[in-house]
Amino acid sequence: MDIKANLESVKKTFKNPDCLLVAVSKTKPISDLKEAYEAGIRDFGENKVQELQEKQPQLPEDIRWHMIGHLQRNKVKYIAPYVHLIHGVDSFKLLKEINKQGKKIDRKIPVLLQMHIAEEDSKFGFDRKEMDEMLADPDFTELTHVTIKGLMGMATFTENEEQIRREFQGLKNHFEELKTNPLPEFMKMEVLSMGMSGDYLIAQEEGSTMVRIGSAIFGARNY
Ligand SMILES: *Cc1c(COP(=O)(O)O)cnc(C)c1O
Repeated sequence: MDIKANLESVKKTFKNPDCLLVAVSKTKPISDLKEAYEAGIRDFGENKVQELQEKQPQLPEDIRWHMIGHLQRNKVKYIAPYVHLIHGVDSFKLLKEINKQGKKIDRKIPVLLQMHIAEEDSKFGFDRKEMDEMLADPDFTELTHVTIKGLMGMATFTENEEQIRREFQGLKNHFEELKTNPLPEFMKMEVLSMGMSGDYLIAQEEGSTMVRIGSAIFGARNY
């Protein structure tokens, strides 16, 4: 697996050169991450706290670690001191726990709110109603130790490109709509994290600012 060559060919296809590439290194050995690091990658995505905890101390300190998977509340404390961005915030309860852990260490933790845009029920995320309820909750404006940077979403796993496109368009519309709302100071709509190996080109065409790409860089994963 030539990671450097894969990175170059992925980058070459980008519809938007300013879209940030997060290299999703879950299940991959440290040596693979080092190769990507040497090829210039500084943003890495992991989806398990334990794996992130093992890898982080073994790699250079200027790496920006993205927690992209479903995060359990009781594990927030482990990554709170160093995580660069938590993509998968899918409940108010989780957001409050992140705020609580941020307060303990006096750090405003950057997060994205994950929206449920796929047809499958298996994917996590807020639906519109839950999101609106949270935004209207008086406790929401009391948050002091999180910074909400934008939204994240995962499209349905399907060959149907029109469906994927529609789901990304829906997320982008929601993102733009939120920008026009009066939002608290700690909430800014700047990052739209959408797109993986199979659908990042569609995501970029629909306005993604951050793509999370694993297998197209590191090869298929064996679980
Ligand atoms: C694994 C994963 C990715 C990357 O998937 P690939 O298809 O390998 O690019 C992106 N986002 C999330 C949330 C993931 O869990």
